[in-house]
Amino acid sequence: MGSAEAWIKRDAEVVWHGFTQMSTYADNEPVVVERAEGRELIDVEGRRYLDAVSSLWVTTLGHRVPELDQAILDQLARVAHSTMLGNGNRVVVELAEALTPLVPVRRPHFLFAADGASAVEQALKIAFQFWANQERPRSAYLAFGDAYHGDTVGSLSLGGGGFGTDVFDPLRFPVLRAPSFAQDPSLDAACAMVDEHRDELAAVVVEPLVQGAAGMLLAPPASFARLAEACEVNDVLLVCDEVATGFGRTGTLFASEQCGVSPDLLCLGKGITGGYLPMSTTVANDRVYEAFLGPDLSSRTFYHGHSYGGNALAAAVARRHLELLADWDVLANVRDRSQQLRRGLERTLGRHPAVAEIRLRGLMGGIELSPPTGGLRWGRRVSGACVRRGVLVRPLGDIVVIMPPLTVTEVETDRIVATVSAAVDEVCTT
Ligand SMILES: *Cc1c(COP(=O)(O)O)cnc(C)c1O
Repeated sequence: MGSAEAWIKRDAEVVWHGFTQMSTYADNEPVVVERAEGRELIDVEGRRYLDAVSSLWVTTLGHRVPELDQAILDQLARVAHSTMLGNGNRVVVELAEALTPLVPVRRPHFLFAADGASAVEQALKIAFQFWANQERPRSAYLAFGDAYHGDTVGSLSLGGGGFGTDVFDPLRFPVLRAPSFAQDPSLDAACAMVDEHRDELAAVVVEPLVQGAAGMLLAPPASFARLAEACEVNDVLLVCDEVATGFGRTGTLFASEQCGVSPDLLCLGKGITGGYLPMSTTVANDRVYEAFLGPDLSSRTFYHGHSYGGNALAAAVARRHLELLADWDVLANVRDRSQQLRRGLERTLGRHPAVAEIRLRGLMGGIELSPPTGGLRWGRRVSGACVRRGVLVRPLGDIVVIMPPLTVTEVETDRIVATVSAAVDEVCTT
């Protein structure tokens, strides 16, 4: 044990936190978690925080779910990990079989990795080699303004930049950039670009329904159906990055379903293990997969694979997680709590002078604040005020992200609404 202050000091002494300026880390009241119960994180001093950011969008059913804990323990008694390179593992086969009827991909094959960025990186390379294998080389990608696909150099190149990552611009390969969902929710400009560049484009990469890291920018389902149609007509591969939207977050198991879209490649991560262990996967449809078949050791092989891809403990918890999503009818809760959240936020903040817009799809939400001048750091300060009230959120600039676990209760949802609106009142009085 020890005081939170002592732990923060020890933390800052040895840990380098992502997306965090370490010289001021300790001054920004970080929470040092020791354990959790349900949807609450408990810090080193025993203080409780409702995890309203789902531990950066990964937690679905909550923490320490007995059934998920048990799935890992059972697998631990068999084997924790064995390689997927040239060999198999029973629980990974079972997971892929369980996912097969659920993913919106035709006759899917699953290439497992550990992070969302790796799943996107794999999709990029697969799309590139798909064309190379057919001796029709193509190397251009179409991605969207404000997109976020992860932090490795390939996924960063697809991303729209921002978050202080501009320093890496010289490392990023160029992509065709369609307008962000905020500028063109119809995606008409993107469709026109697909028509125009059909002979160069290896793939279009898109976050269906919600550009998450951009601050929950929304576009209607029909826009994605049109984009998929443009890809189909022009024979360009479609990659859907559902790392954030997958596994129930938007009210259906996958956002592509709501759009009536079946991508050639689908990237999954974050919620795949319910937030327990790092796992991601790139799902290829039959057409893409079959383009890689050929003689043993031939150049058609996909020469790519991560050491921990298809980790058995992660696969075991991911497989059990799928059963629980169905058994507990979690999607119904997502839809009910989403309505409740929308009503609550509209009622308390809908006409608040400090709020520019409230955006919500399922349990993926953002409240965009409108500070009268720059440099007020409202997003950071409102989030800080929420944390002090026992609700853990994390902003994206001046957007307060609301991303509770999918099993969030009615009472907890009211608590989130009351806390956020009190925090906005406290911070944003001008
Ligand atoms: C979080 C995210 C990623 C990156 O996933 P990591 O596991 O953080 O590498 C990729 N795409 C989208 C849409 C995401 O939200």
